[in-house]
Amino acid sequence: MNLIRPVFHDPAYRPPLRELIAIHWTANLRMLRRPRDIAIFTAISMVPVLTLFAAVEVFPEFLRTGSANPGNIMLELQSLLLRVIAVGVGFLAVQHVAFMIAIELTYTPHVRAAIRDRGVPVCLRCGHLLPPNDPEAPCPECGTTGSSATIRDSGRAAAKDATPANPDMANPDMAKPDMEVPRR
Ligand SMILES: [Zn+2]
Repeated sequence: MNLIRPVFHDPAYRPPLRELIAIHWTANLRMLRRPRDIAIFTAISMVPVLTLFAAVEVFPEFLRTGSANPGNIMLELQSLLLRVIAVGVGFLAVQHVAFMIAIELTYTPHVRAAIRDRGVPVCLRCGHLLPPNDPEAPCPECGTTGSSATIRDSGRAAAKDATPANPDMANPDMAKPDMEVPRR
C-alpha cells in the first residue's frame, strides 16, 4: 500500500483524461451504492480528528502558554507557536495516511472494477495489467488468481445497477470509452 499517493492501476495503463474521468465517475457511483464502503471510509477518515480531540483532552496544557518559560512572554509565544505548528503538521500527515488507507480499502477496488468493466483486464488486488488473452492466469505482480470469478462479480454488480433509464450499465463490456457521463 502506497501511503503517499493512491495507486489505482498499473502505470503502464494510461487512458486519456476524458476516459480517466469517466472511470472515476463510474467508480464513485459504484461506491455510493455500497453503504458499507462509505461507512468504512468515513470511520477511517474520522480517526485522526478524534485522536486529536482526545489528545487535547488528555494534554490540555500542551497548547497553552505558561508552562515552558514562565515570565518571558516572547519565549512563551514562540514555544507555543512551534507546538501549534508541530501538532498541525503531524495532524495533516496522519490525516493524509488515514485518507490513503481509506481510499485503498474502499474506493480503489471500485476504480479497478470500473476499468475491468471497460474491457481492460487489471488485477483487482494490485491493479497490474493482466495478459488480455489469458484472463485465467495468475497476476504476474501479486499472484492473485481467480480473475474469472471477479469478472463475473463485476458483471453481476453492473447488471444489478442497470435501470431502464440507464440500460448501458447492463452490458458494461459494450461501454464505449468515449461514452457520455450518465446524467440523472
Ligand atoms: Zn495483482
